[in-house]
Amino acid sequence: MVRSGLVVVFVLAMVAACGGPTPPPPPPPPDPALPAALAQQVSGDGAFVHLQQFQGIADRNGGNRASGSPGHEQSVDYVADQARRAGFQVETPTVPFDFFSAGAQTLVVAGTPVPNAVALTYSRPTPPGGVTAPLVVLPDAPADATPACEATDFPPTTRGAIVVARRGVCPFAQKQALAADAGAAAMVVVNTEPGPLNGTVGSVAESRIPTAGLSRTDGDPLFARGGSAATLVLDTRAESRTTRNVVAQTTTGRTDEVVMAGAHLDSVAEGPGINDDGSGSAALLDTALRLGGAPAVTNAVRFAWWGAEEEGLIGSTAYVAGLDPERRRDIAMLLNFDMVASPNAGYLAYDGDDSDRQGAPAGPPGSDAIERRMLAALGQVGVQGSGTDFDGRSDYGPFIEAGIPAGGLFTGAEEVKTPEQAARWGGTAGQAFDPNYHSPRDDLRNVDRVALDRNTRAMAAVIGGYALDLTGPDGVPPRAQRQPR
Ligand SMILES: [Zn+2]
Repeated sequence: MVRSGLVVVFVLAMVAACGGPTPPPPPPPPDPALPAALAQQVSGDGAFVHLQQFQGIADRNGGNRASGSPGHEQSVDYVADQARRAGFQVETPTVPFDFFSAGAQTLVVAGTPVPNAVALTYSRPTPPGGVTAPLVVLPDAPADATPACEATDFPPTTRGAIVVARRGVCPFAQKQALAADAGAAAMVVVNTEPGPLNGTVGSVAESRIPTAGLSRTDGDPLFARGGSAATLVLDTRAESRTTRNVVAQTTTGRTDEVVMAGAHLDSVAEGPGINDDGSGSAALLDTALRLGGAPAVTNAVRFAWWGAEEEGLIGSTAYVAGLDPERRRDIAMLLNFDMVASPNAGYLAYDGDDSDRQGAPAGPPGSDAIERRMLAALGQVGVQGSGTDFDGRSDYGPFIEAGIPAGGLFTGAEEVKTPEQAARWGGTAGQAFDPNYHSPRDDLRNVDRVALDRNTRAMAAVIGGYALDLTGPDGVPPRAQRQPR
């Protein structure tokens, strides 16, 4: 936004210097009826039209819309094009990120498969057919309290071998680098817990050798198998790629009191991402298009569709990092919508005031007010919402870290619906809010269109309300009081 603002100023200066055409008409006065009208005009059906587009894009591009893939690029083009036609100022800034995907992941020791080997994120691939080499087992704790954390932990036989080490004490990247320095062909890290080992070797740049993780249950027997012949197959792809955010701002309203609203436009590689987060993206797009690029508002509205959320909030993090302190201070709030049509829907608003006393603490001042406004908007569409932990697991994370108040709506992911929640909202107790979370089944057939409709209308009411007025009992701190970090 900074760069575009400078260009606009420059062009205006040129026009003024040349005498230029007549200046544009003054912006329309704020319209108090706007929030209610906007909540009427948007709908689940309106959002569903965009969801159908996202599903079609995924279908034509290998079944997903993951960042760094054509499915995401086409999603970006679709949203940016729609917003431009509606009169928004639109940018699609590029963001670098480390892409990673894994196909076959298998380990066989002395002819017997060891189940559930998982490549560590950014692991190098093995050659076709895998790496076949003897296992070299490093001393486990307590014999070595810092397993595979020092160069001296690796015996000379490590050269050319598949080295097995216990998790713990130092980062996976360090263990992998030391194993590579010692000449290991590959590495297997065994968890200290029964569950799967989900780890990362840090980045594409740090990745040196094929590296897999095993649960304690699957991996413990290997500590007695030193010298056995093993074959590890890790069909991974890791490389530096780029993705794009879409940022679309109204041409009306104060640009030093900006209402931001965002959703992530990327899916996981495993599926089309229609609820996560096609739903939030589509609802936000319906809201933006009905609002239009030049509405009668007090405060500018800036919509964002983030890239690479699923890779670790990369698009939103890069966006906040790219703003200087004054541009951060311009942002009055960030409203986040990540999954708003879960098939076993809950009606949740981020717990900005930590009134639920669960997990993460309260958000920056103003987050409490946003939560109240979100719950009131859900009430307007006939549902009694409740709080959900403000844990930073979506794109509002980098904003609250920068001291910008935030909030949003959420219909639930892999968490299980309680009997009390089922009594209040319907659906099935004992089942996940979204049983298809991060799977190929997160598709157009598995969205709750009632939840989509209610959330789209509630979102529109809150965005429209704050676009008119940031003050009042559900207000947020004005610019002079904001202290972004
Ligand atoms: Zn998501």
